[in-house]
Amino acid sequence: MTEHAHSFRALLVTRDEATKVQSCALTHLTDADLMDGDVTVQVEWSTVNYKDGLAVTGKSPVVRKFPLVPGIDFAGTVIASTNPAFSVGDSVLLNGWGVGEVHSGGFAGHARVKGDWLLKRPDGLDARSAMAIGTAGYTAMLAVMAIEAAGVTPGSGPVVVTGAAGGVGSTAISLLAKLGYTVAAVTGRPEEADYLKGLGASEIIDRAELAGPAKPLAKERWAGGIDSVGSTTLANVLSQTRYGGAVAACGLAGGMDLPTSVAPFILRGVSLLGIDSVNAPTARRTEAYRRLMTDLDHGKLAAMTREIDLADVPAAAVDILAGKVRGRTVVKVS
Ligand code: NDP
Repeated sequence: MTEHAHSFRALLVTRDEATKVQSCALTHLTDADLMDGDVTVQVEWSTVNYKDGLAVTGKSPVVRKFPLVPGIDFAGTVIASTNPAFSVGDSVLLNGWGVGEVHSGGFAGHARVKGDWLLKRPDGLDARSAMAIGTAGYTAMLAVMAIEAAGVTPGSGPVVVTGAAGGVGSTAISLLAKLGYTVAAVTGRPEEADYLKGLGASEIIDRAELAGPAKPLAKERWAGGIDSVGSTTLANVLSQTRYGGAVAACGLAGGMDLPTSVAPFILRGVSLLGIDSVNAPTARRTEAYRRLMTDLDHGKLAAMTREIDLADVPAAAVDILAGKVRGRTVVKVS
């Protein structure tokens, strides 16, 4: 195993132990500053997910070990390994597993992690595209797989996607449209209607329509749903879901609460499917990436992706929490 003594750029989250206030700054680290692991990766690209926004700004206690390099996902090349499954030169990616939360992550030139957390990148998936998908896109794929497994097919009826112009939402729309589903996009940004239609949405719904308190049961509209908003939005989606439909809950951009009733479940047989990307088993991740290689329109993925430098991440973190980011943001790390 070769240790690299030279320094690399990194974002570092530190905490003042007296005031418990955390801050994040661009600095230089060496491999000696990294945490334990059996594989070291030269990080080429990372990305800004909603959770990275929370971690970098400190708005929620996502970072639980200090000092720590944030960044819940990355893609790059193995530069040192004592793990028999990985060799120097392997092209890899990582999503989740507590990286960027309790283990230093993707916003640095190098990352040292457990090899068990890494996936070899599928043939044809370069590091930048892997991060254009990122945890948001991989989560969207898990959500599509979940509603499919619950029996929702393109013939069942329309599928609603909330938080539509965000990362999970944009990728979910693109995936569902390519698979032949009719997709309704719920957004607070009507100015993004053309963008959402370009991804494959056939109907645009103002998020205000789903923002108020939900009735126990409302008019049946959706065969399925993919929700990244939570709170009253998810409650309204559930009460509008048709008999036997299924809704995947991915996120909490609108709130952690869920003010619903049991009516959709016991009177319409609706299923609420929980989606967790962080600790999903490796076989499920591998299947998700296999599907992303065939079922995601990579031209649309490129069109929904913008590129920033590592130094721009703190500003992008503020923007994503303000709901101002459209689609996906990739970060050029080294
Ligand atoms: P983004 O910020 O890119 O997208 C979230 C979208 O939600 C926004 O673009 C906006 O869409 C909508 N939104 C934001 N604030 C509100 C609000 N107050 N009320 C209603 N809608 C709102 O984030 P991501 O796509 O990266 O992540 C989405 C959610 O999914 C987050 O909560 C994230 O933590 C979660 N997540 C969960 C994962 C898991 O493993 N379960 C993995 C990845 C993400 P618009 O402008 O179109 O209305």
